[in-house]
Amino acid sequence: MTAEKLQTPDSGHPPDLMDKIVSLSKRRGFIFQSSEIYGGVGSVYDYGPLGVELKNNIQQSWWREMVFRYDNIVGLDAGILMNPEVWVASGHVGAFTDPLVECRNCHRRYRADELEQVAAGNLEAQQCPSCGKTGEFTEPRQFNLMFKTFMGAVEQEAATVYLRPETAQGIFVNFKNVQDSARRKVPFGIAQVGKAFRNEITPGNFIFRTREFEQMEMQFFVKPGSEDEWFETWKERRMDWARSLGIRSERLRFHQHGPDELAHYCKDAYDIEYLFPFGWQEFEGIHNRTDYDLTRHQEHSGKKLEYFDQAANDRFVPYVVETSAGLSRTLLVVLADAYDEEEIEGDTRVVLRLNPALAPVQAAVFPLTKKDGMPEVAEKLAADLRGSFNVFFDGAGSIGRRYRRQDEAGTPFCMTIDNQTLEDQTVTVRDRDTLEQTRVSLTGVSAYLHEAIAAARNQF
Ligand code: ATP
Repeated sequence: MTAEKLQTPDSGHPPDLMDKIVSLSKRRGFIFQSSEIYGGVGSVYDYGPLGVELKNNIQQSWWREMVFRYDNIVGLDAGILMNPEVWVASGHVGAFTDPLVECRNCHRRYRADELEQVAAGNLEAQQCPSCGKTGEFTEPRQFNLMFKTFMGAVEQEAATVYLRPETAQGIFVNFKNVQDSARRKVPFGIAQVGKAFRNEITPGNFIFRTREFEQMEMQFFVKPGSEDEWFETWKERRMDWARSLGIRSERLRFHQHGPDELAHYCKDAYDIEYLFPFGWQEFEGIHNRTDYDLTRHQEHSGKKLEYFDQAANDRFVPYVVETSAGLSRTLLVVLADAYDEEEIEGDTRVVLRLNPALAPVQAAVFPLTKKDGMPEVAEKLAADLRGSFNVFFDGAGSIGRRYRRQDEAGTPFCMTIDNQTLEDQTVTVRDRDTLEQTRVSLTGVSAYLHEAIAAARNQF
């Protein structure tokens, strides 16, 4: 399906936005198809020089929000490979499946719940979206989404291990280690960012659903009975964070899971959804998971995962409120929301209106011409700023074109060294969004940038 067909009329995004984002991502070095020179590999993407900066900045803003802001949240970085018994206990070996159907005519595979007639049990009435044949679908069968690999030198004798399909289990199995070593009292949380892998049947929409992706998860351990209150608190905090990134409020909403969507161990679950060009879709979930995970690991490992509340002389298995966001999916939200086009003097200006604290490059420095020592002054300014900011130096080409390139990269400030600089030691600072140009003294540029970025970061 092309992005055009998926366009939701009321999303308010520019037409064909997904195609434009894919093209800009490649052109400017945000995101490339993995193994492109070999024809690519199914739904895996690589982050280029600008993409990796944007991803790091989103991740850091999440980490600052979750780990630095609250005294009772600490970080963790667990292994991707785990003892396979973890996935038996968590229920993933038995039940981390999607229902799969295949068209007998063209052999395209689909998730049964994504085809209207199949989902309603009318296999005969379903037309294949790919080849157009009706009534060719196989009965749904359960397909496990976990990737398997082998651990050990001799494949036949080696143990089957899984690439983790979520980061959460690394947190649950370390509950005691972290609680004992960090000496945290319930309620407290453990936060982690890392890769997760799912052999998705129908990946797609660029980096929205991929087979390798990154998650930012936090498990908050609470006393049984207090989980509903904490659930409300985390719901609001997470929505506030999304807004603080600069994402438009009218494109954000909560979606509560109905009884048919709710995982059996969840008391309650809300998604935070974004209005993508292809409709409302989740990019973060807040889950009220009861004591399911710790109890299951306690049973399967034979190790006690209880908490002893000294003040109340009380022993219990904590309940868990989870916040689970996709890092790569949040990056798509940020890109989709920031992408803008405007007509200027008969020309289309493409600009990423990124929050300056998320922008891959915070400042670009240009000498207006190659004459009169301008490049030297510009290079010195860029070098001075590099200690604190990611700075891009561009010494050639028309100034208009240099500005436009930075607009597409989302660079909030461009500093130009011009004739006046040589006279009064000031530079032109051009604002990406307003296009206003102000003059700032060479020695004041660093403070100017610090102030602007800090103000943007303070929104987090
Ligand atoms: P879906 O129903 O879309 O398959 P899910 O409900 O299984 O997703 P969770 O298991 O709750 O998703 O994962 C938490 C977050 O991880 C999601 O909100 C999303 O941002 C991200 N995520 C999950 N699967 C993928 C994927 N295949 N590609 C990119 N991000 C993903």
